Amino acid sequence: MEIYDLYYKDNKIQYTLERKNIRRVNIRLKSDKKVYVSAPYNVPLDFIQNFVSSKSKWIFKNIADIEKRQNNKIDSDIYNNKIVFFMGNKFKVNIIKDLKNNIILDYENMYINIYTAYDNSEYIKKLYLDWLEFNCNIVFKESVERMIELLSDYNIDFPKISVRNMKTRWGSCTPSKKSIRLNLQLIKADIKCIDQVVLHELVHFIYFNHSKDFYSVIKKYMPDYKERKDCLENNFKDGI
Ligand SMILES: [Zn+2]
Repeated sequence: MEIYDLYYKDNKIQYTLERKNIRRVNIRLKSDKKVYVSAPYNVPLDFIQNFVSSKSKWIFKNIADIEKRQNNKIDSDIYNNKIVFFMGNKFKVNIIKDLKNNIILDYENMYINIYTAYDNSEYIKKLYLDWLEFNCNIVFKESVERMIELLSDYNIDFPKISVRNMKTRWGSCTPSKKSIRLNLQLIKADIKCIDQVVLHELVHFIYFNHSKDFYSVIKKYMPDYKERKDCLENNFKDGI
């Protein structure tokens, strides 16, 4: 085996030439970005060098593609093996290269399996947040139903629920529009903590402020309100 130089524009790489009992000159690129040329014994060296040179554009383009794929892989690794929360449980992110794009929880091993064709952190983050939002829509609606039932003395109308990924608040409400807004991040918390936020927002339909009356309703229907609130503030934050 011999090593030769190959130039394209300002770039230089080396390739390995191996003589073999074959009929044509072959160029192969490996995932380590090394270039391997094999050629029949009877083909002159200058012919092989010219042939490889004529393919230099193709070779450099493919090396760039391999680099890009590898860079993206490192990119997605910021989520791989990361610890995340979902409904009060801790899961380890497991990114699996697959043609389908979806997310499946493995409760046996406590993995959140993210199946994706794209090794790209932004794409994976969007996939994950969309999946969280999908679950928010189901879980938050059930929580609102439960808390309305708990407050049945007050005949609260079922509000419009919107989900938003927020940095500073768990929820907010607009009594005039009969709507509540809940933080997408809340789906990471234990259901008891989700109920606590939902109850808080629903009681605002009775008392809009944070008065004594407001808290007396809260304490009456959820005596461990404060523990739930503390639990929410101190856990379940995973930074995605
Ligand atoms: Zn409030």
